[in-house]
Amino acid sequence: MEKRVRVRFAPSPTGGLHMGGVRTALFNYLFAKKHGGDFILRIEDTDQTRFVKGAEEYIIDALKWCGIEPNEGVGFGDGAHKPYRQSERKELGIYQKYAEKLISSGHAYYAFDTEEEINAMRKRLEAAKVVAPQYNSVTRQNMRNSLTLSEDEVKHLLDTKVKYVVRLKVPRNEEIRFNDIIRGWVTVNSSQVDDKVLLKSDGMPTYHLAHIVDDIEMEISHAVRGEEWLPSAPAHILIYRYLGLENEMPKLAHLPLILNPDGNGKISKREARFPVFPLSWQDPRETAPYIGYKEAGYYPEAFVNILALLGWNPGTNEEIFSVEELSQIFDFERVHKSGAKFDPEKAKWFNQQYLRKKSDQELADAFKPVLSEKGHLRDNAFVIEFCKLVKEKVQFVHEFWEQGKYVFEAPVEYDAKVITKKWNENSKTLFTSVLNKFKSTSEWTIESITKSFHEAEAELGKIDMQLLRVLVTGVAGGPQLFDMLALIGKEEVQKRMETALSKL
Ligand code: GLU
Repeated sequence: MEKRVRVRFAPSPTGGLHMGGVRTALFNYLFAKKHGGDFILRIEDTDQTRFVKGAEEYIIDALKWCGIEPNEGVGFGDGAHKPYRQSERKELGIYQKYAEKLISSGHAYYAFDTEEEINAMRKRLEAAKVVAPQYNSVTRQNMRNSLTLSEDEVKHLLDTKVKYVVRLKVPRNEEIRFNDIIRGWVTVNSSQVDDKVLLKSDGMPTYHLAHIVDDIEMEISHAVRGEEWLPSAPAHILIYRYLGLENEMPKLAHLPLILNPDGNGKISKREARFPVFPLSWQDPRETAPYIGYKEAGYYPEAFVNILALLGWNPGTNEEIFSVEELSQIFDFERVHKSGAKFDPEKAKWFNQQYLRKKSDQELADAFKPVLSEKGHLRDNAFVIEFCKLVKEKVQFVHEFWEQGKYVFEAPVEYDAKVITKKWNENSKTLFTSVLNKFKSTSEWTIESITKSFHEAEAELGKIDMQLLRVLVTGVAGGPQLFDMLALIGKEEVQKRMETALSKL
């Protein structure tokens, strides 16, 4: 029988969760949804030296903002596998048992080497031109461990509480094969695999041991994670095998990297000229915060849509998908092996698509706080009309102000290029006549404005619409001119034209 789909997102609280991590969470979420399974949040905090305060809360907040909430795990649901924080699981002795099993079956061993001894080993090997020296089936023979020391000596060291780690005993020359859902069959020779530390000297398990124990105990069906874990996967296969759990192990899927826009390397949070975090993140070890997608004005639906298409495609040209739609069509067959280039301009385009789906009322509600911050109070109907007019020009709500502030504030200067090119000795007379035509209209609607403008043209000849725009708004471009004049209002338009005519 197929196992129930249970997937986990298992971040380490070592900093803010960046967009790559959110994408891993998203793919797990979508897969769980598609198969009616469970999506679990497990916090992998066994490396106490890298623990960052606030990171766990940030992860939870970020998943909530994205609308991809786990139904089990830290901060979510009332799961049957509590606790979901590895440091708490360690206290229950969960990992120790497995480490002991590996030791007693001869697949793991104690290593008593000090840091200095390990460094000296590395230096020795480097001097002998060994590339990337490791503690492995060959080098362990010259180190101080339970494979090289006598039984009595080992017992003595353990009894006297000398610090040790527990390492995986990797065979010297054996083929390790596994099937990755995204990459297919992967074959690695065990000579390439180091004797990974399973238990550290502080008694904490490493990621390698802890995630295997938890994936088994939490009945995880698929371990979906970043490509950076692919090199460790052969060691993981051995651990499952030596624990007698190879048949129960989750299927593996290693997601491709998200690359920076040039395609040369991973996105760097320090160098990126676009947000890298879902929410603004203040790292307690740094002074300046990193701005998040949320604070940059992105809608969570847009952000999720952007992430979904980084490394996966639907097999059609369609690009706009809600989380619900994604969770019906997502599958790993369409996840690529190669890295996915991130395009910041395309990301903005996605936001624009979602902005256009909003109702004018929603846009108005979002824009009102910006407007009142700028000192303008307008009634709802006016703000709605404004948003309707300007929305084609913006990708973010905060851009409404920049794109249309002249609706609320009279210009203080006039586009110099347009004036130099188009303003001549006839202009004043011409626009004074237009102004008079406007003054004589009894109504002030788009139709009446259009009509009086055309009447003026019939009497005076062609009138440059861009000049009229500049007189009223100061700028050379914008939405439909007459619609905008109607919105600005009769009196205000007249006042602005008078001011302009007196200045130019
Ligand atoms: N704790 C690991 C990380 O933060 C999780 C890897 C996994 O999903 O197995 O990348």
